[in-house]
Amino acid sequence: MGNVDLHIHTVASDGALTPLQVVEEAGAKGLIAIAITDHDTTAGIDEALRAAEGTALEVIPGIELSADQGSEEIHILGYYVDHHDAALQKKLDVLRRARRKRARRMVEKLAALGVPVRWERVLEITAESSAFGRPHIAQALKERGYVISANEAFDRYIGLEGPAYVSRYKLTPVEALEMITAAQGLPVLAHSRGQEYRLRELAAAGLVGLEAYYPSYSMKESEALARLAEKHNLIPTGGTDFHGYAGGVTTALGEVGVPPESLERLRTLAKSRTGDVGTRGRSRG
Ligand code: AMP
Ligand code: ZN
Ligand code: FE
Ligand code: FE
Repeated sequence: MGNVDLHIHTVASDGALTPLQVVEEAGAKGLIAIAITDHDTTAGIDEALRAAEGTALEVIPGIELSADQGSEEIHILGYYVDHHDAALQKKLDVLRRARRKRARRMVEKLAALGVPVRWERVLEITAESSAFGRPHIAQALKERGYVISANEAFDRYIGLEGPAYVSRYKLTPVEALEMITAAQGLPVLAHSRGQEYRLRELAAAGLVGLEAYYPSYSMKESEALARLAEKHNLIPTGGTDFHGYAGGVTTALGEVGVPPESLERLRTLAKSRTGDVGTRGRSRG
């Protein structure tokens, strides 16, 4: 389909593949650019950059942040972030601590509901991840045979309306945008369908793009979102939101049609802001 995938999770958050495996698969498929966008962590980025070194594949250092406004949750992707930025790392650490605390509370709630999972097991499942997510809890529930799929775990227990759901500390949308911008990143609204009404406000606060190309969107929907992006002077981007192939996932890495000019526009914008996009991903050891 396409050869650009700007929304990918790894084991550093709640994905199933390591950054190395992601880069190998992207390379084998002939992709030209991928963005590693783990939830609240950049821990997978250096491994991906190293793995892609000397190949034709560009690895864009990225992040995905969750933000809350009222009862709704939106996700903001950040591209070309300086993942070694100390202030960024400090803030991410606060978010990850909140994730851990919240995971513990969900485990307590599950025990009270008669479907106990061991905290030690959750720690093992998240061994390579620093960002505890509900998919990890879902995995623990599945292993115990309480549910047959992650989807069922969300439906019955840990989804927003579920009896074991616990909310976690989240940024406001403007805080998320500022956090990315302060780390030299380009903020983009993730899976933007349904959030069209927020665009004016978010664009005014520094948003530079919106995700218009996404596995569950029809071509018509993507085109409408892309037109809307232009109206707000935003770049229409896209990605698969890849989390690996477990649990009946049907979208493969790279199976999304991101226009090549979207990548070009992101690169140009990143370059114009720093004057030095070529070394942005360079590891400082
Ligand atoms: P969290 O970040 O802990 O709030 O968990 C949200 C993550 O759970 C999302 O990024 C998805 O990867 C995953 N997720 C959300 N809904 C479902 C579902 N119904 N089935 C499986 N995974 C889901
Ligand atoms: Zn996820
Ligand atoms: Fe998301
Ligand atoms: Fe995502």
